[in-house]
Amino acid sequence: MKSLGRYGVIGAVLIVAALAVAVPAARYMTRLQFDQLSERGQNTLGLAATALRGELARYRNLPQLIAQHDDIQALVTDPQNQVLIDRVNHYLRDVNALLGSSDIYVMLTDGNTVAASNFEGPVSFVGENFAYRPYFYDALTSDEGRFFALGTTSLKRGYYFGAPVRTPDGPQGVVVFKMDMDMIETSWHGTDFRIIVIDPEGIIFMSDRPEWRFAAIDQLTPDRLERTAATRRYAETDLRELPVTRSVDPAGHLLLTVQEGGDRTEYLAVTESMPEAEWTIKVLMQTRPARNQALVSVAALLLMLGVAALGWLSLQQRRRRLEERFSVQREAQEMLERRVSERTADLAEVNHRLEEEVIERRATERELRKTQADLVQAGKMAALGQMSAALSHEFNQPLGAVKAYAENAAVLLKRGRIDDARQNITDISSLTDRMAVLGRHLRNFARKPNERLQPVALDQVLRETLPIIEPRLRGVGVTLDVDLGPVPLMVQAGNVRLQQVLVNILSNAADAVEDRPYPEIRLTAWREGGRVFVQVRDNGPGVPAGILARIFDPFFTTKGVGKGLGLGLSISYNIIKDFGGNLTVANLPGEGAGFIIELPAAEAAHLPEAAE
Ligand code: ADP
Repeated sequence: MKSLGRYGVIGAVLIVAALAVAVPAARYMTRLQFDQLSERGQNTLGLAATALRGELARYRNLPQLIAQHDDIQALVTDPQNQVLIDRVNHYLRDVNALLGSSDIYVMLTDGNTVAASNFEGPVSFVGENFAYRPYFYDALTSDEGRFFALGTTSLKRGYYFGAPVRTPDGPQGVVVFKMDMDMIETSWHGTDFRIIVIDPEGIIFMSDRPEWRFAAIDQLTPDRLERTAATRRYAETDLRELPVTRSVDPAGHLLLTVQEGGDRTEYLAVTESMPEAEWTIKVLMQTRPARNQALVSVAALLLMLGVAALGWLSLQQRRRRLEERFSVQREAQEMLERRVSERTADLAEVNHRLEEEVIERRATERELRKTQADLVQAGKMAALGQMSAALSHEFNQPLGAVKAYAENAAVLLKRGRIDDARQNITDISSLTDRMAVLGRHLRNFARKPNERLQPVALDQVLRETLPIIEPRLRGVGVTLDVDLGPVPLMVQAGNVRLQQVLVNILSNAADAVEDRPYPEIRLTAWREGGRVFVQVRDNGPGVPAGILARIFDPFFTTKGVGKGLGLGLSISYNIIKDFGGNLTVANLPGEGAGFIIELPAAEAAHLPEAAE
């Protein structure tokens, strides 16, 4: 609503502005057009006047010349002389034809025509009296007569020049030369302009429009009519007034508006008077095209201004819209920046918290790892503890043997059986070597490992594991049945930890088969694709279904106090997971438990390295 009001005001202002521009512009453009029109009219006027003057000048002196002809001189003094009349008639006819004039004739002082170029024609002037014509009496009184008129006999318009025929007794006659006006008039046809020639009474004598001829553009006052009648300038023609109104525009242009039929035509008129012929020449030009042109110019100007105004308005509007858009964008951007900074603060806060959490987690993880490592160690120690009886037996037996051999050797030395004594001492030495090997394995096993994953040869691991587990197996009275397949198997693992897993699982198997009349433990290994599987199976009671899911939990044990800690499988499970493998258990039909260690295979190309 508000903008509608605004547009209304703008529209009103534009209309007022357009009017304020259009009115003076129209005046100015019209004046400019009229100036141009007037200038062109002046050119035409100049040309027409020059042509008329030239024509008059051409014939002006001819009557004087003809008047000097001897025959004419003779004729005026002897007007009844038929021979002379004939001769002059023929002479005038020839000269008339030669000069292309309308008529040439000779009048006596009483106004009677005695000879004429048209003596043979149907409208011969011979015998006519033209005493009323000014050219006649002017020629007699002032040497030269001029007049333009409609021929009373011929009814043809012409310009008359009269010259006296001088004789020693003074002027005895007048030679008259009538010039045809039609030719000049015809040459005006086809021009854009109206050319009119007006007599001193304001009557149009010549015009390219026949209907304008003998019409008055000034009022036909009785004076004027009387003067015209006296010279019979227009013979018996009915004179009328052309309905003309005159006006002068501010620039001084003369405007004539002619009412013809139902049409009103406005002309711009330029005038030149020819006093020598008593003529006034006017060139009339229709103003309609000029006015139209001016209007078109004004319309074009208004259009241009309109377009400019529209352009300006739309520019303003666009600028306003752009400003609005910019301000909206600015606000949006500010809001966005605000939000971003808020978010950034939030994120920084969250980040900070996360970092703290990560630090905490790392610390926890470190703690866990340490705990795990401690547990592994504890598990190993527990396994050692469990096996200590078997191990002490393992050490005590050779120690007893060493003692017996030593005592024996002493007796033998006393008896002088040096060779037998040497044999005993050699046996002692080999027994202590065996004990040292076992000790080394135990030390290795007990050591806290700090190892990397690397390709490890399975048979090597087993070779190092067996001395540790052997005493326990022997205690149960079982022999380990090993089948590692035809191809040496390599796995990606840590040597000591894998030993620990095998010790745990083999110990559990030994526990399971302890009370069996025919205990059996079998270790089988094979490779499937990128994985190596090691299965340890026994003919014990198997794992009861109810606890299958729990045996890998830490501290889960079914063994009595002091016998099991419940850590072996949990630790083994974690170790195998660390290797990227898997530890599973299943009860085998008709047998005991079967544990499967699944490990990533390593390529044989990587040679196993020494234990860590
Ligand atoms: P622990 O041997 O100290 O009890 P483990 O984690 O090694 O701890 O074993 C957990 C439990 O899993 C054992 O208490 C036993 O009940 C069961 N188990 C392990 N191995 C066997 C097996 N070969 N046959 C039957 N039960 C087994």
